Amino acid sequence: MDLQILLNEIAAEMPTAPDRGTVARYIPEFDCVDPARFAIALALPGGECLTAGDADEAFWLQSISKFFTLAIALGRLGDRLWTRVGREPSGLAFNSILQLESEAGIPRNPFVNAGALVVIDAILTASTPRAVLAEILSFIRSAVGEEDIHINKSVAASEQNTAHRNMALAAFMAAYGNMNNAAALTIGTYVHQCAVEMSCRQLALSGRFLTGMAGAPRLISTARVRRINALMMTCGHYDGSGEFAYRVGLPGKSGVGGGILAVAPGRASIAVWSPGLNAQGNSQLGTLAIERLARATGWSVFG
Ligand code: GLU
Repeated sequence: MDLQILLNEIAAEMPTAPDRGTVARYIPEFDCVDPARFAIALALPGGECLTAGDADEAFWLQSISKFFTLAIALGRLGDRLWTRVGREPSGLAFNSILQLESEAGIPRNPFVNAGALVVIDAILTASTPRAVLAEILSFIRSAVGEEDIHINKSVAASEQNTAHRNMALAAFMAAYGNMNNAAALTIGTYVHQCAVEMSCRQLALSGRFLTGMAGAPRLISTARVRRINALMMTCGHYDGSGEFAYRVGLPGKSGVGGGILAVAPGRASIAVWSPGLNAQGNSQLGTLAIERLARATGWSVFG
């Protein structure tokens, strides 16, 4: 199968889809995001990267950044991290506070906001926001193999100004003794991590370390790669994770910026970007596009 032709076909088909979803609007920076944008990119063994659509246009990682910080935290703390955050799907929205009270301030998984805050809090201990952000950027740049990846300061500032819900999650967990640093430091670091911007092509390159394929950067052990992929499969799309697993059959992580990173172990790292979101906060056309790709290639972790 000619994968470039397939990507071109997908990029040509997507604009005809009846429902593009709705662009996030919780910070003013999203007002400038064109809902008609679409990109798809495929990083393959040996370093080749195929793209179609607006694959060199930058967008904000938002929650996609959570798999990078999880990799860093596991490297730093190992399995001790799991005393503070669980590994179960939440079945609730990404920013829900509901389970925290009945589950004594332990978030369900590292990909819901509460869990991502615990992960950042864990990395922050014995460090500073500046050093942690430098470490996150350096990890991401190594994963991509390019230096030109930055934090969008204006997005980070807007996120900070509207972080009431994340502040509430941090305060609630602090009440249960599950936050070591001042909430302002943890949230400040978290909003900057979410504001990392890169292109769809760079996102595809960044996921190679989770594929185990030839030529991919080896940033973490194979055992940890498997565990992060398992969590992306079960929790990477919030309360849409079961649907993504059913339709696509690959581990993936979404962000409200409209990006999705999906991993086809041994075969490819796949990135899509389309800013319109579905009801669960995952890219509407992005999901459709990866589903189409997975069906055409037969790539699935389920055989
Ligand atoms: N910055 C967003 C938040 O924390 C990220 C959410 C997401 O991408 O799902 O609320």
